[in-house]
Formats: sequence, structure tokens, C-alpha cells
Amino acid sequence: MIKNFTRSECDENGRRITPSEGECCGEKMSLGNFTNTCRNCGADYNSAGQLLAPREQWGEETGESLSDILSIDYADTDDLLEGN
Ligand SMILES: [Zn+2]
Repeated sequence: MIKNFTRSECDENGRRITPSEGECCGEKMSLGNFTNTCRNCGADYNSAGQLLAPREQWGEETGESLSDILSIDYADTDDLLEGN
């Protein structure tokens, strides 16, 4: 969870002077990118400091899970090995 979130500051022309910042694992991190990863726990946050779903779940909206994709890869690998 992000603590002490500070919004990015812009000058009068709307140009960003400082990126958003927050603290995760007690360490200050920049939230200037679309996705920002904590170097300690690996949690992903968006630029608003909101925790993003774990990467393992990123395929769920399309009905594909990473385990499905991996099991297909493993099956292909087994077939290749058996062929040798
Ligand atoms: Zn963290």
C-alpha cells in the first residue's frame, strides 16, 4: 500500500515539475510512470498511487490465465522432447 502519497506538481503551463511520490515498504518511490514497481516487494502502482492487480492476474479479463498459457507451453515442450 502506498503511504504519504503526494500528487505531482505542475507549473502554470501544465508541465510537470515533480512526479507523484509515495512510500511503499517504508521507502519513498517515484510514481511518475504509468506503472511503478516497488523495488522491495515488487508491488505495482499506477501514477495515482493505486495498487495494481498482481501480474499473474493480468490475463483474467480476457479469460486467459497465465497458468493456461504456461500449461500449453509445457505440453508443446513435452511433445517436442518425445519427438526426439
Ligand atoms: Zn513495497
